[in-house]
Amino acid sequence: MSTEVDVIVVGAGPTGLMLAGDLAGKGHRVVVLEKRAKTNSNLTRAFSVHARALDHLAIRGLAPEIIASGEPMKSLPLVGALDVEFSKLDTPFPFMLVTPQFAVERVLEARAVAAGAEFDYEAEVVSLQQNSDGVVVRYVHTLDGDQQQGEVTASYVVGADGLHSTVRNSLGIDFPGEAVLSSVIIADAKVDFPPDKGLAIEANGHGFSFICPIEDGYYRVLAWNSGTREHVNNDVDFADLRDLCDAVFEREMGLHSPRWISRFHSDERQATQYREGRAFLVGDAAHVHSPAGGLGMNVGIQDVANLSWRLDAALRTGEPRFLDDYEAEMRPIGAKALVDSGNMVRAAMRMSSIPAAVRWGILAVANNSGPLGRRFAQGIAMSLAGVRARCGGTGSGDVGAFWSGSVTDADARNTLGAGQFVLATPWATNVTRAASRSGAVAVVHSETVRDQALLVRPDGYIAWAGAPNSPSLMRAIADGTPGSRAHSPAKSAAAT
Ligand SMILES: Cc1cc2nc3c(=O)[nH]c(=O)nc-3n(C[C@H](O)[C@H](O)[C@H](O)COP(=O)(O)OP(=O)(O)OC[C@H]3O[C@@H](n4cnc5c(N)ncnc54)[C@H](O)[C@@H]3O)c2cc1C
Repeated sequence: MSTEVDVIVVGAGPTGLMLAGDLAGKGHRVVVLEKRAKTNSNLTRAFSVHARALDHLAIRGLAPEIIASGEPMKSLPLVGALDVEFSKLDTPFPFMLVTPQFAVERVLEARAVAAGAEFDYEAEVVSLQQNSDGVVVRYVHTLDGDQQQGEVTASYVVGADGLHSTVRNSLGIDFPGEAVLSSVIIADAKVDFPPDKGLAIEANGHGFSFICPIEDGYYRVLAWNSGTREHVNNDVDFADLRDLCDAVFEREMGLHSPRWISRFHSDERQATQYREGRAFLVGDAAHVHSPAGGLGMNVGIQDVANLSWRLDAALRTGEPRFLDDYEAEMRPIGAKALVDSGNMVRAAMRMSSIPAAVRWGILAVANNSGPLGRRFAQGIAMSLAGVRARCGGTGSGDVGAFWSGSVTDADARNTLGAGQFVLATPWATNVTRAASRSGAVAVVHSETVRDQALLVRPDGYIAWAGAPNSPSLMRAIADGTPGSRAHSPAKSAAAT
């Protein structure tokens, strides 16, 4: 394995895999250090991929394969008959995709390997040091029971190493927060009498439960007991889960044949910094919360979409300024995920302590409040789907919003996927022609932009918007883009 690279990625979960594929695909030398063995599948975790994460996967050409691995759900039935409708969202992906996390990881890993990222499994990172020239990461490699120490140097390191992040701890970055849920039972099992819509969430005095079809005829089942809960490390009896689900759904669900069962405990925490010098945090290393809303992996994918073009730009140009706004843009989005997920899980916990008559009264009001109820549910859907998230930009109007043409316009999508900025314009002007000649942007004539030109970053967000002949466009391109890819060094560690 190489001992001197451009970027070290610590952790081969979904965020580390996506980042490794992005950077290796753009010609940077990438090493991924992962402490678990290659064969371990991540059986127990995410099952939902929301619209904005699918936008980012689409820009990388991965959405069709990932969508084919799962089941698009047009709505998310919440407690009672309250439905969160995704089908009315203004996005190319108006649904929540239900697919196991390992299906997403398989696609991302294959892409990273094909792009040339080097993987070292059973390599546990134990420390990191950095100075103004680069970083040194030390790890312990376990092979056939023997332990060997190794080190890799790089221009940058990214901690994609999850909740207990060694990278975060080595940097001395705080991770304040609190435990929000204890001893939730989770299993994949067969269900003889599933909910009408396949997926359902319910809460009553016994606790709350979530059930959704996952793959191969199995359902992912979660249940939390509002009364006595075993310690999170104790063994789980499948009968406890079966009885709790029946009690919460107030009917026999017919759970049987579990293929695995476990308990988990959930914290709500966010790193006080996402960056320290040449080291960055993404995904669960930066933010964790309850699984309510299915947001963790989704927000992690957004972190990576934001950081990867910045690292590419910094490595290509030798200008670290491109990295400056990563934390400012993504930390508020992580904070919002903590709030949304926390509100959902606390509502479910409170529901379980409210007497049944009052609970049904609240749900009836929420359901029958016409436009208000629908707007409430739509607000949740937009937030979960990520389509509300704005990234950067101090201008007004479209600046900072995601441009849907990044996904729907094939030329734009392919250009962004290759890591280049797009100038989407309704018509050509002297200014757009000059922009095209600079090589810093690919000009796309798009019907989706009406009377203004949009400068779109490789993560699909609008960096500048204005008249196609505005002189300020060339300034925005000079300041905001890393220039022409053709003039970039192929291997960039020395340049930074
Ligand atoms: C029950 C449950 C349900 C969930 N459902 C959803 C959902 O539906 N949708 C959703 O978006 N999210 C969901 N999540 C959250 C989601 O699983 C996580 O947000 C996601 O896995 C985070 O990805 P990551 O790459 O940041 O970290 P991880 O997936 O945790 O990967 C980190 C990797 O780093 C490795 N590592 C750790 N330390 C080291 C070290 N020192 N050296 C080398 N390697 C190291 C680990 O072995 C691991 O492979 C759920 C979580 C749980 C628990």
